[in-house]
Amino acid sequence: MFKLYNTFAKNKEEFKSINPGKVGFYTCGPTVYDYIHIGNIKSYLTADVLRRYLVYLGYEVRHIKNITDVGHLTEDDIAQGDSGDDKLVKKALLEKKSPAEIAFFYEEYFRETEKKMNILPAHFFPRATAHIPQMIKIIATLIEKGFAYEKNGNVFFSIKKFPEYGKLSGNTLENLKIGARLEEHPDKEDPWDFALWLRAPKEHLMKFNSPWSLGYPGWHIECSAMSAEYLGDTFDIHTGGEDNIFPHHEAEIAQSECFSGKKFVAYWVHTRLLMVDGKKMSKSKNNFYRLEDILEKGYDAMALRILILSSHYRSQMNFTWESMDQAKSNFQKISVWINNLMNVSLGDSKEKSQISFTHIYQKRFEDAMNDDLNTPLALSVLYDLITETNKLSVKNKLTSAIAKEILTFWKRINKVFGLIITEASIIPNFIIDLAEKRKEARLKKDFATSDKLRNEIEKLGYLIEDLKDNDYTIKKL
Ligand SMILES: [Zn+2]
Repeated sequence: MFKLYNTFAKNKEEFKSINPGKVGFYTCGPTVYDYIHIGNIKSYLTADVLRRYLVYLGYEVRHIKNITDVGHLTEDDIAQGDSGDDKLVKKALLEKKSPAEIAFFYEEYFRETEKKMNILPAHFFPRATAHIPQMIKIIATLIEKGFAYEKNGNVFFSIKKFPEYGKLSGNTLENLKIGARLEEHPDKEDPWDFALWLRAPKEHLMKFNSPWSLGYPGWHIECSAMSAEYLGDTFDIHTGGEDNIFPHHEAEIAQSECFSGKKFVAYWVHTRLLMVDGKKMSKSKNNFYRLEDILEKGYDAMALRILILSSHYRSQMNFTWESMDQAKSNFQKISVWINNLMNVSLGDSKEKSQISFTHIYQKRFEDAMNDDLNTPLALSVLYDLITETNKLSVKNKLTSAIAKEILTFWKRINKVFGLIITEASIIPNFIIDLAEKRKEARLKKDFATSDKLRNEIEKLGYLIEDLKDNDYTIKKL
């Protein structure tokens, strides 16, 4: 039984799709006025593993991820989205490019990054600017039904008309009144109302026609419009980062449920934010990392994938370079293991496999994943299998039939882990043997032999890098 933590229920719930065998899946995508960073990658990777596991379980998943190509505010304190400030436009002015050029550039970057991380592309990436008519239709209906009001070309959602506001985040109107800072807008009836449409100031570059003014949509309406367009009024899963819960997803629920009169989303799945060296990522602290920053230091994108999977998506992950080293070593361990299995599987295969050698591992893998996508536990199952395989190998008991069975099992579970093992990440056995001999020499403090072996390995085109606890990694030169 697959259980998934639902932010809405504040509990792990058994997953049941609305339509048998099919899952409608929406992910809040990038705002394309800047490079996506490793925190964004963590969030998209969670959605990716969830989608992959649903497919593993036999579901047909339709995944939609929007591209926010109209700029929006993100800071919580101006989260009501009313200041008229547009980040995409600001960036365009700064870089002397049109907003469309800026959006296109960062969208390409986002797609490239997802590809390098082996995050499956969504089935469709709708752009906000291509869905203004759908947004206008929802806003007009909300005004008609009395949930929204227009003043001076600005339209606001009236949250006192939707008593359920706050049911996802716990930020009810009463709670909100205590403490939170707000950006005032003279046309608002209530300071807690949020913008659906805003009149554009003259200098604003991105503006669209609407029945109310030449303006632009509020921050939240695009996701209500695009999810309804491609997944219907009610769908199964909506994912995002924990910073999306309030106000973004709260506002999406208010707009969508008042518009359709139906329940919006069955399961809300949120990824916890990523920390870097124990601190929140920020440009001012200079701890804002992109994928390139990691690749430039010689790490494989797959090592980052392993690092992210090594912590649970709802626990606080702390990125450090030491943890990257560990992930690199684990990636190498997996690559070496695959390499060995492939070599052994080529041998004579007349003998029969011990039936269900991997059976117990499959059960443990599924138990881990069924428990709210416990990827760290699922990875530890894989590491146990590697240890057992290595023991068999040492005893010369790893037959080609067993190797084949393990490889088949690996291919199945790797559809969920999503690791790419390339030629470059596979190190030939004779190099590994030399590296192991060198490790033994180092353990005996025989540094003359260890240095000799290092040189030998280098002559063969590989470089050894030593890690903590006598661990090491091998790189192709
Ligand atoms: Zn969204």
